[in-house]
Amino acid sequence: MSEVQQVRGKISTVEWILALLACLSVILLFIPSDLIKFEKTIVAKDYQSHLYSDLNQGGQSQVRWLDKEQQRWQCELSEAHVSPYCSVQLDVVNEDGHGIDLSGFDKMTIWASYQGEAEYLRVYIRNRNPKYFVLGDITSTKYNIVEIPVDQLSQNGLTIEMKNLSVADWWLTSHKIPLALSNTEFNDVLYIEIQTGSQTRQGLHQVQLQKIVWEGSWLTQAALYKIIIVTWVVCILSLLIYRIVTLNLQLKKNQRYQDELLSINELLSLKNKKIEDLANTDQLTGLLNRLGIREALYNGLKDWKTNRQPFTFVLMDIDHFKKLNDSFGHDAGDLVLQHTAQRLSDNIRRTDFLARWGGEEFILVCPNTNLDDAMIVAEQLREHLASMVITEIPNIGSITASFGVSTMTTPDLKALFKDADDALYQAKEQGRNKVVSSL
Ligand code: GH3
Ligand code: MG
Ligand code: MG
Repeated sequence: MSEVQQVRGKISTVEWILALLACLSVILLFIPSDLIKFEKTIVAKDYQSHLYSDLNQGGQSQVRWLDKEQQRWQCELSEAHVSPYCSVQLDVVNEDGHGIDLSGFDKMTIWASYQGEAEYLRVYIRNRNPKYFVLGDITSTKYNIVEIPVDQLSQNGLTIEMKNLSVADWWLTSHKIPLALSNTEFNDVLYIEIQTGSQTRQGLHQVQLQKIVWEGSWLTQAALYKIIIVTWVVCILSLLIYRIVTLNLQLKKNQRYQDELLSINELLSLKNKKIEDLANTDQLTGLLNRLGIREALYNGLKDWKTNRQPFTFVLMDIDHFKKLNDSFGHDAGDLVLQHTAQRLSDNIRRTDFLARWGGEEFILVCPNTNLDDAMIVAEQLREHLASMVITEIPNIGSITASFGVSTMTTPDLKALFKDADDALYQAKEQGRNKVVSSL
């Protein structure tokens, strides 16, 4: 595996997701506003226009087109009417009878020109809502109004926030509109109307509307921040839940694995114990073997060294065992070894350790025992052995053994053993079936 692959392997999916999310957040924060904008343009000459004045309501204001294309119009305003006006109305209804939907737009820019003494022009965006619209009464469309200062009309247009529009008071009261419906509405706009302003004096006013452009954005800055924050929160929560769930699963898996290991270990330690027991035990007699007695030897030496606790050894050897083997057979010899082992272990003290040293030799390790006491123990064992009866082998007679006893005087196990061996030799020399001490 290459180094790059190794590093990649160490980066978790979670880290990749977080990195991706961080990049996306930065991109979203600096996203060009054009990408999330949408527009709607209405060019006046593309729609049918109608001129109106207060003439129909008893006034005397005159309005007329100044050009053949019906783009520029002139109003001769007369103050004969209480609220004199002239206006142009653009019909923006499509063939299916639906108005235009301007509800998602934030602002509109008006390109228009004006000549005259007035300071303001009125712009009406007239919306239809079945809750107040009456078929055949075009004044039942809602009059969403904004008055625009004519001195701000320029080549670049005049931009107005849609939130700055309101519903004309006269329309609300004359149509008895309930408060709940008195807010501006732009979802089904049938007409756009440009009218002389409310304070306009009598005289000549020339107006031309070129176009209106509405601008909206798919996302406001606040919505964008909300989306980023919510995405982060959702993502982090999901990752946390994912982590918690996977960690729990992993924990359970590890727990199971640990339990299995424990049970295997238990089994193994049982087996180890068996193997250890086998390794420490003499197969023929069931006594400890040389390996099995080493701990008792080591402890005896340690206690002598640290506390000067007496440490004594009894070495035993069956007398004339070779002869016995020769006379009664090897199996009989084995049986004698087993009986001897049993007889000895039945009569030793609980604090002593008995082992088969090899062949027909046995060793008794007597911790915290001085030579005299060990001599007594050895003498008793000698007697027990000599009085043993082996019924399985007729005419075998009595089995005797010679005993060599030594006690530790220097911290040297070899010397202790040699002393015991020498004493044993002495016992053999003195006619066997004897206990001899090294001192
Ligand atoms: P001594 O009184 O001087 O000790 O004479 P001994 O005959 O007992 O001594 P020796 O060392 O000459 O003989 C020991 C014999 O023990 C020789 C060997 O064949 C026999 N022997 C050793 N291990 C076993 C065993 O596991 N089973 C049997 N049946 N005989 C064994
Ligand atoms: Mg021997
Ligand atoms: Mg012998």
